[in-house]
Amino acid sequence: MKLIPIPAFADNYIWMLHDEGRALVVDPGDPQPVFKALQDLDVKLEAILVTHHHHDHTGGVDALRVSTGATVFGPLKETMPEPLTRLKDGDQLRALGLSFRVMDVPGHTAGHIAYFCENADGTPLLFCGDTLFSAGCGRLFEGTPAQMLTSLDRLAALPESTRVCCTHEYTLSNLKFACTVDPDNETLKRYRESAQVLRDNGQPTLPSSLALERQINPFLRTRQPALIQAAQSFDAKAHDDVSTFAALRKWKNQF
Ligand code: ZN
Ligand code: FE
Repeated sequence: MKLIPIPAFADNYIWMLHDEGRALVVDPGDPQPVFKALQDLDVKLEAILVTHHHHDHTGGVDALRVSTGATVFGPLKETMPEPLTRLKDGDQLRALGLSFRVMDVPGHTAGHIAYFCENADGTPLLFCGDTLFSAGCGRLFEGTPAQMLTSLDRLAALPESTRVCCTHEYTLSNLKFACTVDPDNETLKRYRESAQVLRDNGQPTLPSSLALERQINPFLRTRQPALIQAAQSFDAKAHDDVSTFAALRKWKNQF
């Protein structure tokens, strides 16, 4: 089984998982690069997994379904290109012989879901859409800070070997902010250097791992004294997990 990020638009990745003959894709906002990958790899699209309703994640679903007959899976509560199989927290889906568990992760959108595969060639795999990014998290368009923090906590509790497949290449700009709010974190500084080298060479910084994100992602570290202190320098009223998270998210929006 191979995992590849297909670049789309300015900074999206459409994740593809494939074996010798079959493939699935996650959040195909644009059908064209997916058609090209299917042709280049000579594989048949079996399933399309969608995390939330934003157009840069759903724009290619209809064209791909019509021309390949792939089964489409998506969130229970969001407006989606029909027809599809709608999924909620705890549901399982099978594709390419693998089993994926659905997790409700509201915050970026109200009905956002993530897909977790416990064992894909020996390593867990997470497709988290626009909820968790490397060194960052999604903007709160439809949810509250408390909802988003709960969602991120659930993702952070998955096994640390989990490969984290985010939908955007935002890593360098997230790392700039992360280094500002967590300036003494040596792991973070080293990661920023290695991510810069990858981008300078035109390589993706993803997938990340949960082990790394727990050490460097400010939005998974809102209980660390350094992050609480940083949040208070932005908003003196920040005092608990949720208000620390809310202050950091608001700061990042203006950064
Ligand atoms: Zn989005
Ligand atoms: Fe997006």
